[in-house]
Amino acid sequence: MKIQSHPRLRGVMIGDEVYSYHYHLAARVADIFPAAVCVRIGVLSTETPMELSQTPQLWRADEIENLSVCRYCGARDNVRVVSENGIPFRVCTQCLPEE
Ligand SMILES: [Zn+2]
Repeated sequence: MKIQSHPRLRGVMIGDEVYSYHYHLAARVADIFPAAVCVRIGVLSTETPMELSQTPQLWRADEIENLSVCRYCGARDNVRVVSENGIPFRVCTQCLPEE
C-alpha cells in the first residue's frame, strides 16, 4: 500500500523550518508523517529549577507553511523571508514581484 502524503508536505524535509498558523510558532521539522510533521518546541518549565526542554509536537499539514522553500515554486535557492499580515514565508528572487 502506497501512502500518499499531504500536498503541503511535498518538498518538506527534516530540518526545514515550518510556521504553524495554529500555534503562531516557527519550528524545525524533526520527523515527517503522511499528514503531519513532528517538530520540537523549546518549553520553559514553570517548576524550579527552571529548565528549557525540547517537547515534540505534531503539527497538521494543513496548518503549516514551509519556511525553507519558495512559497510559489518550491525552490530552495535564492529565497528570502517576507511577511504578510505578520505571517512569515519565503519567496525566491524569481517569484518576487518587482519593487
Ligand atoms: Zn519561486
